[in-house]
Amino acid sequence: MILDGKAPTGPVEKSWDNYRNDQKLVNPSNKRKYKILVVGSGLAGGAGAASLGELGYNVDCFCYQDSPRRAHSIGAQGGINAAKNYPSDGDSIYRLFYDTVKGGDFRSREADVWRLAQVSNNIIDQCVAQGVPFARDYAGYLDNRSFGGAQVSRTFYARGQTGQQLLLGAYSALSRQIKNKTVTMHSRTEMLDLVVVDGVAKGITVRNLMTGEIESHWGDAVILATGGYVNVFYLSTNAMGSSVTAIWKAAKKGAYMANPCYTQIHPTCIPVHGDAQSKLTLMSESLRNDGRIWVPKKAEDCEKHASEIPEADRDYYLERKYPSFGNLAPRDISSR
Ligand SMILES: Cc1cc2nc3c(=O)[nH]c(=O)nc-3n(C[C@H](O)[C@H](O)[C@H](O)COP(=O)(O)OP(=O)(O)OC[C@H]3O[C@@H](n4cnc5c(N)ncnc54)[C@H](O)[C@@H]3O)c2cc1C
Repeated sequence: MILDGKAPTGPVEKSWDNYRNDQKLVNPSNKRKYKILVVGSGLAGGAGAASLGELGYNVDCFCYQDSPRRAHSIGAQGGINAAKNYPSDGDSIYRLFYDTVKGGDFRSREADVWRLAQVSNNIIDQCVAQGVPFARDYAGYLDNRSFGGAQVSRTFYARGQTGQQLLLGAYSALSRQIKNKTVTMHSRTEMLDLVVVDGVAKGITVRNLMTGEIESHWGDAVILATGGYVNVFYLSTNAMGSSVTAIWKAAKKGAYMANPCYTQIHPTCIPVHGDAQSKLTLMSESLRNDGRIWVPKKAEDCEKHASEIPEADRDYYLERKYPSFGNLAPRDISSR
């Protein structure tokens, strides 16, 4: 088996720029001849479909919810990182790249991470232009909060609703393309299978969840932006619908599936409180980052109320084990 992620090669900081300069272009009148199927309309699919529509391609976009606004991206709370260095605390594209590679346990494709760091600042500007109400300081400038895995403050946020606000921004861009008829939206439509012609994904079969009818759609390319690999865990911070069935169908048709280890871990959840619960609720990570985490030093103190445990008997274990990051240690390391 040859695993080729097709990430551009060469010096990491130039690889994507070189690739973009060498890539073949499609002229505007030819773009109209192509049809792209985008399955998913969360932050990935919604933004992707809107951008492809804006470029002039014909896009059919699918989601199983009643509206793209209900994709699970709505659940993201904490914020989005960008290397703008507004607080002048030493941030740079390189440092965002470095922290992201390290935070991904050195498994990410470095060229792709560089690109993410490189465009991070533009993403913030684009979201602001779309009307995403990021938090601002008293003077009106965009504010930053600290987040795990970084010693700088680079997280742009909208209270504890960053995902919801970003999704509304992506949805407004998508709606504009729907109105311009470059994107046709099929909500309440679930992808059932992938159609592969001569080794290339050319179509999908779907079920209309309102009528039960089964339909097929063809395209020149199929993009699966169907969200996280989640329900492998019993309870998680994702919805029961985040069941990865579309990716599984593609895997059954021969696509490689890799890196389920990239499932994001949320160590700070409100504890399970009943049998009828279908998901866990995240306490914003910023609680950890702006506060201090401790556990009782003595086993016999574990049942006591926090206020009964004196300072000397508290173990601030993240500050003890990782003094340079302290409570800002990456979340998987912190929870381990
Ligand atoms: C509680 C929580 C907090 C988070 N906080 C942060 C944070 O602070 N910062 C951060 O960067 N990230 C955060 N994340 C992660 C981030 O929200 C997700 O990685 C991201 O939003 C996923 O976007 P997506 O578009 O890939 O998937 P989703 O938003 O899940 O969208 C999936 C789409 O695919 C569609 N779909 C799926 N299967 C099918 C099918 N078979 N047929 C048709 N349509 C289908 C769905 O209808 C939906 O439109 C958080 C995640 C959670 C759960």
